[in-house]
Amino acid sequence: MSGTLYVVATPIGNLEDMTYRAVRILAEVVLIAAEDTRHSRKLLSHYGIATRLISYHDHNEKGRAEQLLARLKEGESIALISDAGTPCIADPGYELVQRCHHEEIPVVAVPGSSAVIAALSIAGLPTEGFRFLGFLPAKTQARRTVLQRCSDESTTQVMYEAPHRLLATLSDIVEICGGECRVAIARELTKRHEELFAGTAQEALTDFSERESVKGELVIMLAAAPRQAPAMTIAEQLLHLRQTTDLDWKEIVKLVARDHGVAGSEVYRESLALRKKEVEGDEEGSG
Ligand code: SAM
Repeated sequence: MSGTLYVVATPIGNLEDMTYRAVRILAEVVLIAAEDTRHSRKLLSHYGIATRLISYHDHNEKGRAEQLLARLKEGESIALISDAGTPCIADPGYELVQRCHHEEIPVVAVPGSSAVIAALSIAGLPTEGFRFLGFLPAKTQARRTVLQRCSDESTTQVMYEAPHRLLATLSDIVEICGGECRVAIARELTKRHEELFAGTAQEALTDFSERESVKGELVIMLAAAPRQAPAMTIAEQLLHLRQTTDLDWKEIVKLVARDHGVAGSEVYRESLALRKKEVEGDEEGSG
């Protein structure tokens, strides 16, 4: 009989956000695989849990999954936790869970906090459906590409972002989705300086720009953007998207056609001259 892998959620700030069941499971298992053992030791001490900890993080995921799998197969039950919130949600765990499925080892969720759900629950934005994007890419061009794709969505988009990139991301949102697009920003949830900002993208940009600095952990939520009249001609927008994002021509043509309310074939024809120039430029560069 194999053991069970318990995927246990831990608090995202407030230590009281721990479920009775999470405490019991963490005390009962043979081993706890934790992203940062020193960090998790504090939480476990708070609840008087003395279970042995072993590290399981982005850099040792593969090798460690193998070791943990061997122990699970021997009948030991193991809990997986991350530094905060739910493992596998923009956190390590995928490799181990996936391997357990493959080996038919039971995987049991012990649910609790997750920043994405906590943030959405207070955002005041439509949540019948939503799309979670995890962390936005750190590089400008890649981030703009993701946001351009978002602008095509009809549901609320949720993303994790680092505080020092908030202003750059908000100005991209204003440019790509429009200043009137509704956003909510949940910062430091469940902690002393907890805050929810709700308003338009432009209001958020103005508000956060006026602050001395933005600190702490945050979640950005973006409502489906209202369609706006394009500020550029078809040719200008084609060139702009090509230069400022990593979108391929097919996606660019689709977005521009949508924004201008014209057939894709029309935009495709306009794009041909630009594509030709691009190919000629490439050939000159390589020749
Ligand atoms: N697994 C976690 C979960 O279930 O929410 C997420 C881990 S991810 C590495 C950390 C990111 O989650 C932070 O950078 C931030 O975007 C978001 N986050 C975590 N705790 C938060 C909090 N208390 N308030 C707002 N956002 C938080």
